[in-house]
Amino acid sequence: DQEDDPGAGNVRVLCRFRPLNEKEKQMSDNMNIEFPSDNKTVVVNQHMESGEPLKFNFDYVFSPRAAQVTVYEIAARPIVEAVMQGFNGTVFAYGQTSSGKTFTMTGPDLEDPTMMGIIPRMVSTVFYQIENADEHIEFQVKVSYCEIYLEKIKDLLDPTKNNLKVHEDRARGVYIADLTEKSVYNQDDVYELMKIGTANREVGATNMNAGSSRSHAIFILTVTQTNSQDFSTKVGKLYLVDLAGSEKVGKTGAAGKRLEEAKNINKSLTMLGLVITSLTDGKSTHIPYRDSKLTRVLQDSLGGNSKTALIVTCSPSPYNEAETISTLRFGIRAK
Ligand code: ADP
Ligand code: MG
Repeated sequence: DQEDDPGAGNVRVLCRFRPLNEKEKQMSDNMNIEFPSDNKTVVVNQHMESGEPLKFNFDYVFSPRAAQVTVYEIAARPIVEAVMQGFNGTVFAYGQTSSGKTFTMTGPDLEDPTMMGIIPRMVSTVFYQIENADEHIEFQVKVSYCEIYLEKIKDLLDPTKNNLKVHEDRARGVYIADLTEKSVYNQDDVYELMKIGTANREVGATNMNAGSSRSHAIFILTVTQTNSQDFSTKVGKLYLVDLAGSEKVGKTGAAGKRLEEAKNINKSLTMLGLVITSLTDGKSTHIPYRDSKLTRVLQDSLGGNSKTALIVTCSPSPYNEAETISTLRFGIRAK
């Protein structure tokens, strides 16, 4: 993070390993991953491909013992702070199915203070800051929730709108036309909309995880502040993205529609990687936002003054070694 280089310093790539689950613990194999105490490195002692240990560097590495609150404070709090100052921000979770994307973004329970994920914690910070702000600042908070499935944008707060278009104009920048925006006044309003939206998602059973999502879910929080003394306004937009599983087609036994899904997912994740790499390499003049719906939708909140955190989530199980290494490589390429 270079303070004096707003472009590159505004994208951070972090890595989180989940703990082994009960089933994985029963397998005697061990993947042998090390988490050096600098909290910036992960070392994978390869199990299947016998070879040198692989070392990966990130802006931060969360070991399986990292608490939800720690992940929030390090990965997401700087972004919500920027949004409250009128900047745009994006948090992504990238990884194979069952690596912990939804656990990290949403958490297993929205209302459990230790288990809640990044989204409810960000929402809580937003309302806390609103309650404690100067009296002459008036806030308006709005929520939208959509998913991108097979390159189509579906409104999760009104699923009859299942093929929304991306528009661009001077006043609004790049936006999803006709996407439902609901005003919210407290955390419970937001949780209610999250539950409604989540129930409207496309889900498909793969061999790996019956509830696995084959779509990108994008939760959008817009905070508008109006200062009644000088009549200035500030708008910050926060995009919270639970990406589709990054696993390769073969492993999930895809065919037909599942294969079409997988190809679309691979393409949009590859394009996301290219956009982030072009933003961080400091030399690209063309950023290929237009090459996929996901990057097009996020165009105004990636790059420029926006703050971005990409959290790559990994499984520590030896069965997932190839996917874990591929996820780590995606993460370091994006850095
Ligand atoms: P994904 O969204 O990537 O498919 P999930 O977030 O659903 O994966 O995680 C898969 C399973 O692992 C879930 O049962 C989840 O509760 C559990 N899990 C994921 N990350 C953690 C973690 N850091 N600590 C404890 N359990 C976790
Ligand atoms: Mg998930």
